[in-house]
Amino acid sequence: MNIAILSGKGGTGKTTVSTNLAMTLGVSYVDCDVEEPNGFIFLNPSILKSEDVFVEFPVIDNKKCVLCGACAKVCQFNSLAKAGKEIVVFQKLCHDCGACKLVCKTGALSYSKRSIGKLETGISKDIICHRGILNVGEPMAVPVIRNLLGGLSKEDHFIDCPPGTSCNVVTSLKYADAAILVTEPSEFGLHDLKMAVELVKIYNIPYGIIINKDDGTENMVKRYCTENKISLLGTIPYSMEAAALYSKGIMLCDDEFHREIFINTAEKIKEAFAW
Ligand code: SF4
Ligand code: SF4
Repeated sequence: MNIAILSGKGGTGKTTVSTNLAMTLGVSYVDCDVEEPNGFIFLNPSILKSEDVFVEFPVIDNKKCVLCGACAKVCQFNSLAKAGKEIVVFQKLCHDCGACKLVCKTGALSYSKRSIGKLETGISKDIICHRGILNVGEPMAVPVIRNLLGGLSKEDHFIDCPPGTSCNVVTSLKYADAAILVTEPSEFGLHDLKMAVELVKIYNIPYGIIINKDDGTENMVKRYCTENKISLLGTIPYSMEAAALYSKGIMLCDDEFHREIFINTAEKIKEAFAW
């Protein structure tokens, strides 16, 4: 089973939950937050494999090009423009859809490849860890995420999704069998959690909520879960100790008190997702 861990809002503790659950349960970890993949800081795996992710972009042969402009007209992403006596290619805007080649009748248009990021696989205490890394300045994370998740084995994985509810999260959810939404008990947390819930509902997969930095009261997120019949899978208390461990890069599950929390949460997850 692939379990996506997401949060409508950044900074809720999604990576903390993902890495600690992976380590507690001995399940593979996948960092899909390719613009800022920081799960490896905590898991510190030995890297076993690294490979580039390539995308294609059009190249124009000016000797064959008759400047008909059909390629620029069909491109929905403004990656091609007719400027004077040439077709200008904006490589980073290209979505690799192939439409321009279909409409070029002179054979002037071909494709070349460029690297936009890389995939890494490592191992940490017998846990297989994967991550995608988008190169600085690249605008499109989706191809890296697609390559990362498309290459996973049939084994269980915790997928640490990008924050928010953008197309990067949508792409990640396509590979998930269940979802855990991590939030914090604040107005912002609840607002963005609701958007994440609406997104997950579209996929018709089982899901539940974990509250990080829980204040121990019957707060707004708990009331939301009760009112909407959403499983509350676990709560991680707000504490200076957790913050101190985090700031030193120490896994919470290495601490006895927090380890117990993740063990109990893992049991609830198994039950809720019939896993
Ligand atoms: S492949 Fe698609 S996105 Fe890229 S330039 Fe051609 S039409 Fe535009
Ligand atoms: S469709 Fe082909 S021939 Fe026409 S402008 Fe584009 S590259 Fe040139």
